[in-house]
Amino acid sequence: METIIISDTNDLQQAAEILRQGGLVASPTETVYGLCANALNEDAVKNIYKAKGRPSDNPLIVHIADLSMLQPLVTEVSPIAKTLMERFWPGPMTLVFKASSLVPKVVTGGLDTVAVRFPSDPTITNLIRTSGLPLAAPSANTSGKPSPTNFSRVYEDLNGKIDCIIQGGDSQFGVESTVIDTTGEIATILRPGGITFEMLEEALGKVMMDPALGHKLKEGEVPKAPGMKYTHYAPNAKVILVRGEQDKVIEKINELVKTQQALGQKVGVMATDETLSYFKADTVYSVGTENDPRTIAAQLFEVLRKYDDAKMDIVYSLAFKTTGIGQAIMNRLEKSAGYHFIDV
Ligand code: AMP
Ligand code: MG
Repeated sequence: METIIISDTNDLQQAAEILRQGGLVASPTETVYGLCANALNEDAVKNIYKAKGRPSDNPLIVHIADLSMLQPLVTEVSPIAKTLMERFWPGPMTLVFKASSLVPKVVTGGLDTVAVRFPSDPTITNLIRTSGLPLAAPSANTSGKPSPTNFSRVYEDLNGKIDCIIQGGDSQFGVESTVIDTTGEIATILRPGGITFEMLEEALGKVMMDPALGHKLKEGEVPKAPGMKYTHYAPNAKVILVRGEQDKVIEKINELVKTQQALGQKVGVMATDETLSYFKADTVYSVGTENDPRTIAAQLFEVLRKYDDAKMDIVYSLAFKTTGIGQAIMNRLEKSAGYHFIDV
């Protein structure tokens, strides 16, 4: 298949037409690039799973660009949901509602709920409005790999497999949206993201974390967001997180690098601007500055992919604070490492 590349994000008529015909279009969003299809066209949505190699029980988020697009998709909007929509839409927040019968089961992975987001990025909202369609969209990458936060990575994974890629700039947040279940008494975070626990608590007074978050799932444990049970965000290199007091962590990583290099392994280190100069390895990259964790979120997936470009076998990474956006950063990093920690 020939993939059309559109670089004028102001002229999305062609991309909108592709969507109306049941095709697939990758678009920038403020979180990561998304792979979009008409959410109400079952065959089109099936092709998303095919292009990504995504497990079919992992439901998709439906993207809207006007509050009036929500009502046909859901049967109920709780007071919790109303508060959150007023506060954080448009933006990097996805809410889970009871689904109406309009939403195909292929979108919800067979669940009776549907996840909906009103993004803020002008390109995706323009695409939704121009096509006149709610768009089902997961991240525009091969399933399992780190999500794409720029055009090149989408091209690398999906050129030749989808109809069109819209070439925008780098994603602003760099981690996927916060997913919140609004169908219960208390709002529950199913996946941490750009809208933080602290922001939600401030808006609602009370928020819960899904108990399945923050650890490797136990045999038989079922997370409410089915996607959280899959291997995710993982480069080919084996990622290992080293936790503890920073001086000791640096010393330990340098020691581990030497040991592995002696065994013939190519070893990378994921550092920060502040620690970059302390490491010696085959490749050392900074993921951002500790003074502003948003820079770490924004670059995390791209830096993980760079170790694969450099053909590293192992990557040792610093662990980061889990407050604010740090919770989303560590959620993705833990998964990319398969929960492999070394404590010093
Ligand atoms: P992705 O589109 O790859 O960023 O992933 C979307 C995330 O939202 C996955 O973790 C899904 O499991 C989750 N999700 C989507 N729909 C629902 C739903 N109806 N209920 C709970 N989680 C959902
Ligand atoms: Mg994804």
